[in-house]
Amino acid sequence: MGRLFLIDLEENFYSCKNCETPIALVNHLLSMNYECPFGRAYLFDKVVNVLDGERDEPIPESNSTMVHLFCVQCQYTVGFKFVRRAVLESQRSKIILIRCFLTPSFGGTTKESLSLQG
Ligand SMILES: [Zn+2]
Repeated sequence: MGRLFLIDLEENFYSCKNCETPIALVNHLLSMNYECPFGRAYLFDKVVNVLDGERDEPIPESNSTMVHLFCVQCQYTVGFKFVRRAVLESQRSKIILIRCFLTPSFGGTTKESLSLQG
């Protein structure tokens, strides 16, 4: 596998649970309470260090398809995005990261204390 965009995120961020590659900044978090078929999830407007899955899976009775997202480093599934057709470019996709596949990295705060929140 080729491309590797590892960037140094100095702010608070979420990383891949498997290899701890930074995946998303807290600043890009839109919702912490998104429910998806895989359980509790976070909704982001932007993510980094992920690869799109090869296949779009149509969602029945909707104008959308679903694309799986993988960690660029370890290819672990971290979430997916909904891609809507025939709408403005800026509204086209929703990026959903599945909570149980992420590790929060918030400054000096420990994972243990974060797991008690929300
Ligand atoms: Zn990873």
